[in-house]
Amino acid sequence: MTVTNRIFLAAALAAAALGAQTPGRHKRIVGDAEVLRVHRAAILIDTHNDVPSSTVAGMDIGKPNTDHHTDLPRMKDGGMAAQFFAVYVAASYVEGNHAANRTLQMIDTVRHDIIEKYPRDFVFATTAADIRRARKQHQIAALLGIEGGHAIEDSLRLLRRYYDEGVRYMTLTHSNSNHWADSSGDANKPNNGLSDFGKEVVREMNRLGMIVDISHVSDKTFQDALEVSKAPIFASHSSCRAISPVPRNMTDPMIVALAKKGGVIQINFACDFLNADVAQASAAIEEKLRPIRDELIKKYAGDPDGLSRAMREARERVGAGPGPRATLADVVRHINHVVEIAGIGAVGLGSDFDGIDCAPEGLDSVDQWPNLTRALLEEGYTASDIRKIYGENTLRLMAEVERVARTMR
Ligand SMILES: [Zn+2]
Repeated sequence: MTVTNRIFLAAALAAAALGAQTPGRHKRIVGDAEVLRVHRAAILIDTHNDVPSSTVAGMDIGKPNTDHHTDLPRMKDGGMAAQFFAVYVAASYVEGNHAANRTLQMIDTVRHDIIEKYPRDFVFATTAADIRRARKQHQIAALLGIEGGHAIEDSLRLLRRYYDEGVRYMTLTHSNSNHWADSSGDANKPNNGLSDFGKEVVREMNRLGMIVDISHVSDKTFQDALEVSKAPIFASHSSCRAISPVPRNMTDPMIVALAKKGGVIQINFACDFLNADVAQASAAIEEKLRPIRDELIKKYAGDPDGLSRAMREARERVGAGPGPRATLADVVRHINHVVEIAGIGAVGLGSDFDGIDCAPEGLDSVDQWPNLTRALLEEGYTASDIRKIYGENTLRLMAEVERVARTMR
């Protein structure tokens, strides 16, 4: 490197460091009317919610309830425009070869128990244009994302069937590695990232127009997926590892690389993903809970409410107590961090409501989204910034995934 280059680099780094503190933003006081106006003008898309694991077992999303983060009345209060519902297929369904069966049941609960049951409020959506149309009709766009690549039972034919059923993203793994992709939750990493077949899965997802979701995958699987994919990819529910060092979160280089290819990291609201102190406290408890959870997951297969009750009791038994919680301010910190390292176009929201044990104070459930709007305005974000974070970044990504698919058909 020449001396001149070195000086330029030093200047650039200094400018970046200055910008990192307040990239043109200034904290300010915000009134209720502005919060409401900005909130209503944004198309709020949440890319991950696990309530279908409860509706499949009989929960009525239309009735107000307090044991879930999600119900229809609160979704409306929260001003939600679109929800990707998680077609979560627990790894336990791989045993006995029931993964596809479970996948179809989960797709059915979203289509039958949510959309068809409340047709005035929800409308089935598969494209960016569908979401904009739903918004104009004052309906909540309901979309499908599969969580756990074992759902395809190693068959591109099943992948194509799920696309035809309306599935528009697939998380390549859950906490388990499958036969073709490694998970961040698996110490063994049997595939060293994506296997050759795993790469074929990614290419077929590109051709179909299904978003490649790298939440839950190992760092090497992320790199492989990013390299192979012809379309931008996203993390449907992950946060920043620089702030809370859990393997489910993304490192800065991962976030920057993702953003360079037009990708989006959708911030997850799990208290331990948001806050390092909470992560440390819950890791100690988790150590004690893991063997109990494994037992209970088997015992309460197909009964998620029974499972959460039993887990609550188990928590009390091991003395977990209420412990420290993350807050709304932590969510803002993660958004700030992504904006600082990768730009305003790289961040979105994937709450993981009803898939997490602890939601941040101030963002406790799906009716609390306006609190985030207020916090972002106070932080100095403009209405246009907030529109990007809430929905436009994801809509841009979806439109690009759809465009790439058209070029491959
Ligand atoms: Zn998840």
